[in-house]
Amino acid sequence: MSSSSKASASTSTKPLQVEEEEPVLRVYNSLTRSKDVFKTRKPKHIDWYNCGPTVYDSSHMGHARNYLTQDIIRRILRDYFGYNVNFVMNITDIDDKIILRAREGYLLDQTKSTNSTLTSDMIKDTKLAFSKFLNSKLIKSLPSTIPEISSIENDLEIFDIILNKDKSDSTFAEAAKSKEEKWTLYLASLLKASTAIKKAESLMNGSGSTQNDVNDLVDGTSDVLGPYYGETLGHTIEDPISISRKLALYWESQFFQDMEKLNILPPNIKPRVSEYVKEIVEFVDKIIKNGFAYEAEGSVWFDVEKFDGAQGDGFRHDYAKLQPSSKGNKKLIDEGEGALTGSKGKRQAADFALWKAKSKPGEPAWPSPWGDGRPGWHIECSVMASAILGKGMDIHSGGVDLMFPHHDNELAQSEAYHGCQQWVNYFLHTGHLHIEGLKMSKSLKNFITIEEELSRNTARRLRLAFMLQTWNQKLDYSRGLIADTKAKEETFDNFFANVNARLAQAAPTADGLHQNGSAEEAITNDLFNAQRDFHAALCDSFNTPAAIQTLLDLIAKTNIYFSAKGRDANLAVVTNIAEWITRMLRMFGLGEGAPAKNGIGWGIAVVGGEAAQNGQDVTSQIEPWARTISSFRDTVRKLAMDKSISSEELSRRILTLSDKFRDEDAVNLGLQLDDGQGSDGGALWKLVDSKTLIEQREEKKRIASEKLAKKQANAKAAEEKKLAQLEKGKIPPLEMFKPPYITPDNLYTDWDSQGLPLKDSEGKDVSKSTIKRLVKEQKVQEKLHDAYLQWKKEQEGK
Ligand SMILES: [Zn+2]
Repeated sequence: MSSSSKASASTSTKPLQVEEEEPVLRVYNSLTRSKDVFKTRKPKHIDWYNCGPTVYDSSHMGHARNYLTQDIIRRILRDYFGYNVNFVMNITDIDDKIILRAREGYLLDQTKSTNSTLTSDMIKDTKLAFSKFLNSKLIKSLPSTIPEISSIENDLEIFDIILNKDKSDSTFAEAAKSKEEKWTLYLASLLKASTAIKKAESLMNGSGSTQNDVNDLVDGTSDVLGPYYGETLGHTIEDPISISRKLALYWESQFFQDMEKLNILPPNIKPRVSEYVKEIVEFVDKIIKNGFAYEAEGSVWFDVEKFDGAQGDGFRHDYAKLQPSSKGNKKLIDEGEGALTGSKGKRQAADFALWKAKSKPGEPAWPSPWGDGRPGWHIECSVMASAILGKGMDIHSGGVDLMFPHHDNELAQSEAYHGCQQWVNYFLHTGHLHIEGLKMSKSLKNFITIEEELSRNTARRLRLAFMLQTWNQKLDYSRGLIADTKAKEETFDNFFANVNARLAQAAPTADGLHQNGSAEEAITNDLFNAQRDFHAALCDSFNTPAAIQTLLDLIAKTNIYFSAKGRDANLAVVTNIAEWITRMLRMFGLGEGAPAKNGIGWGIAVVGGEAAQNGQDVTSQIEPWARTISSFRDTVRKLAMDKSISSEELSRRILTLSDKFRDEDAVNLGLQLDDGQGSDGGALWKLVDSKTLIEQREEKKRIASEKLAKKQANAKAAEEKKLAQLEKGKIPPLEMFKPPYITPDNLYTDWDSQGLPLKDSEGKDVSKSTIKRLVKEQKVQEKLHDAYLQWKKEQEGK
């Protein structure tokens, strides 16, 4: 073959014929504030660092929003896009809040264990603590002065006066709340303490006290006594590291239990700060050597001014890349430092602590070249991420609250340490969570822990609800959202039940698996289009609301196909659809239990986490079925043996009985019967959640009774209207403008033969325009009167 013929052969075939370009994955990146094309540093491998919890209290719905959202994205990247994800999440177990909580708890416990009866010293301490809390918190937050308290010395009495004013004067209460958002919490803590102190005082004066009374006083006053003891007795604690450790370990295990209940995948690596103190010291030391931090009075501070704009190797360092508008925001900076941290030796307000000197005895501390101390908050993530992932990472994530100062400081420290321009490629920040339109907070009393929420709604419902909003937007967790989520769950449930029932009861001889007409072609195309749209949605920065909607739209189309084809539906085509929807839902982490053998269905989610039947034995599951069937049989037999019933009446009663069985007994068992839908022309039966069926039945009943009530009300109104018209029709049209039918009696004084007035009360002629109007009125009355006469005649005839 000559070379020229080869060339012509190769131009005649096109190996690639692309009809539509495949979308690429783009991810919203807080660093660029735009949706960037997603590229990993190594093929199909993602190194991901997520800021984990500070463990000192129960996890709440804000945590759920953050960690659940990360989990959804992680599953999409791993199980849909096929990346290998190395997910690292730290546990913050060294923190000012942990230290304070731990030592307060320890000192309060110690008071209980060293006192078996109430003592005057205890009363004195609780009163001092009460006064301190009252003056440093409540009195400071008063919106206006209360003159009568200036002459009172007893702080318990002063508190009573303020409490009464808060109850009786709403303007005062509102002003106080807007001045100090913790006002209500302060009042609650002080009220609890004051009640406990008063009770203890009366016991001391009376019959004496027991260990229980000691415990009651300590527990009742814990909000005021804890901080007081922490300050006055904190230095007496001999092993502060171990008590902090104990508290952190407890809450860490609670946290992971909550995550497990939410079906959140555990991190691949979960480092604790307390295990990285040596690395932190080395990291801080190198930042000092690189010239971006300084030591002062045992603490080490990051030099923000020096870093911001400093020349690197061919680039320039920038501070506050994520949230430049917050640069120098003192409130945010101080919040980031913690309650125990002063600013001794700090040169500029924007500088932040890398290492905190031990300021008082009783604080946990580790050795360092700058003296005993503990790590600052921001440094821990820089160190652990660098120790585990190296010089950089693909994804860093956390809640949007962490953007400044935490993440901006992390970036600055790490770039200062590594001497690099960019430490993170994609910064993902999950959006806020609001409750019924309001920020969640203890003072607004809308604070919900994960445990509480899981006692009301399933983990699946929570996950699906969160997926109905994009991950980086604010989410309003409201009754409306839950209702919407429930409705969507039901659509999925009903779809799977329907497909499974049809598959299970398909006639063995049915040939429906093979025919491929225009309806089958159309529904198969619907599947392909849905798959394309679903892919496009996930490529668009994990747009889960759009992805879920695509699945629901496909279900709606399949339901239309079902009702059009009835028993002749091609089950093979429908199986393809149901299998794909199942796989996608399970990919998101929405599945419960192991997938079914036929690969269809997302399992049954139950409040509390475990499937209902797990705890029951077989007998107790069968019992209600046996009772129902036996009682149905009894009634049928009784009917058959009753000789007095005509055959017509018998069949009517049997049909009523069958309907009752379908609508009442079967529903209670979780058995749904669709008449005429079965492959043999009988009912198509489906096993579904009885609770859902009962809810649906009650809803139907409610709608029907509402309709009936409305109909009755309309009929009653129509009847009343008819009676009113008949009453009006009693007046003969010729008499209608004469007394006694007209008021006042003397309105008119003369009439013509048609009963129309001629003269008014003063004897003047009635105007033409008035007569014109009255003629019209008379015409109307003629009709009413005719109707009245007709009705009267009918009544007499009866
Ligand atoms: Zn962090």
